[in-house]
Amino acid sequence: MRLSRNRNWGHPELVAFLKRFSAAVAKQAGWPGILVGDMAQPRGGPLPFGHRSHQIGLDVDVWYEPMPDRVLSKKEREKMSAPSLVSKNGLKVNKQFTAGTAAFIRIAAQQPEVERVLVNAAIKKEMCKLEGKHHYAWMAKLRPWYGHDDHIHVRLKCPADSPHCRHQPPVPGGDGCSKKALAFWFSHRVLHPTPSKPSKKPSKPRRQIMLADLPAACSAVLNAPAKKTDLAVESR
Ligand SMILES: [Zn+2]
Repeated sequence: MRLSRNRNWGHPELVAFLKRFSAAVAKQAGWPGILVGDMAQPRGGPLPFGHRSHQIGLDVDVWYEPMPDRVLSKKEREKMSAPSLVSKNGLKVNKQFTAGTAAFIRIAAQQPEVERVLVNAAIKKEMCKLEGKHHYAWMAKLRPWYGHDDHIHVRLKCPADSPHCRHQPPVPGGDGCSKKALAFWFSHRVLHPTPSKPSKKPSKPRRQIMLADLPAACSAVLNAPAKKTDLAVESR
């Protein structure tokens, strides 16, 4: 989706994951396919807006919405919006959440190469309600995070041949379904954050990130010669 953002690039393992994942979702949840949101920019690096992650080609956003039973045009992929699955008060899922959605989320978290799946807290709570008694290992990978009411964020584990890639620390607190684990996400300050006061001073424009600010290995990636590759997800 949103091809104009040019964020449909990723590590070969991410592209391979998406192919396997979409096939699994088609088979197990009966969806015609998935709608893939942001991956990373060509050769990665910090994005000028929108995310702090999505830099190293191992992150992808996937909509909760199934792909329609036809290939969308480029224009439709710019214009279509992702519906929210969470009620206005942020406490529970709405009618957009179906058995298919639950299967889609479960399949994502079950994949062995997946390190984390981020969802809205109301969606995590619903998944716990549906599956929580079983204490599956995948449930621990499903983490509540701000937003994420209209897409999941999938982060893959570090590929075996990337020694500088840092694993994310293991999540404490078991499957994250206990009242205590979820309480923070339904606290007043998370559901109703106080808007920051507009400052009287004009805000300084954000300093552009320079190559020197990035790890040294990034120069090698940026300066590497272009080669024929099938790493990009094909865009129609
Ligand atoms: Zn994301």
